[in-house]
Amino acid sequence: MHKPLLAVAAGAFLIAGCSATDSDNSPGAASQVSVVASHYPVQFLAEQIGGDLVNVETLTSPGTEPHDLELTPQQVGEVQNASAVFYLADFQPAVDDAVGEASGTAVDLSEGLPLLTGEDDHGGTDPHVWLDPVLMQQMATTVADTLAQQDPDNAQAYQDNAAQLDEELAALNTEWQDGTANCEVTTLVVSHEAFGYLANQYGFEQRGISGLSPETEPSAAAIADLTQFVRDNNVTTVYTETLVDPAVAETVAAEAGVQTAVLDPLEGPPADGDYLDAMRANLQTVMAGQTCS
Ligand SMILES: [Zn+2]
Repeated sequence: MHKPLLAVAAGAFLIAGCSATDSDNSPGAASQVSVVASHYPVQFLAEQIGGDLVNVETLTSPGTEPHDLELTPQQVGEVQNASAVFYLADFQPAVDDAVGEASGTAVDLSEGLPLLTGEDDHGGTDPHVWLDPVLMQQMATTVADTLAQQDPDNAQAYQDNAAQLDEELAALNTEWQDGTANCEVTTLVVSHEAFGYLANQYGFEQRGISGLSPETEPSAAAIADLTQFVRDNNVTTVYTETLVDPAVAETVAAEAGVQTAVLDPLEGPPADGDYLDAMRANLQTVMAGQTCS
């Protein structure tokens, strides 16, 4: 269908010599599907599956801790006008509020997933589903189906991209399964409780210095408890993370006489590479920190 049209256009161009108005074939932004993503892992899914067919705006800018995100009026407008908004409910209250007024399709990617409840005082659901590659596979399917619905002409392209991503996520899952099959230490002591789904998938137990949200400041008694916990469970590594002040984790590690290492909870874009690269780096860190063989 496209080829004969292009041939005609090229022929017309040769005969006419020039055409000042022939800009229809340039990769214009006007034909792209407008997509809004809540934060980096969701952006990754939308970009991988949407490719050049979509324009993705991400609400959480790099370097921002996403839990207490505040939206500018312009971002609220983007949410309202986008063809598709992908987010996770109960993660960023400002986003929950904004999607209520969206005119397009707003999709909570955590819907239908087996959600964990938090162990902190708030007792809410744990939003950190993206740290489990298997749950990412399910979210990828939702993104592809939504884009295919919004833009039926390109449905096949979205499904093809999703199939490709699904393979890559499956390979990542296999690497994690193999890499963590035999670990001497099964307790993950982390900065905030972002790793519940990952721990669940690969046979670890998570203990957070703060709860599901990183702002919760632990008391001196809680720090002493945690230090004792680290000693009692033969933990060798306390994990810090990129967007959260490591001071408390470093205090616990120093008092317990263990080391620290950085795990990326992928709440913002990774310093190097993409989601898959960062998850592989996390695997290497966990294998060293948990003494896996
Ligand atoms: Zn978090």
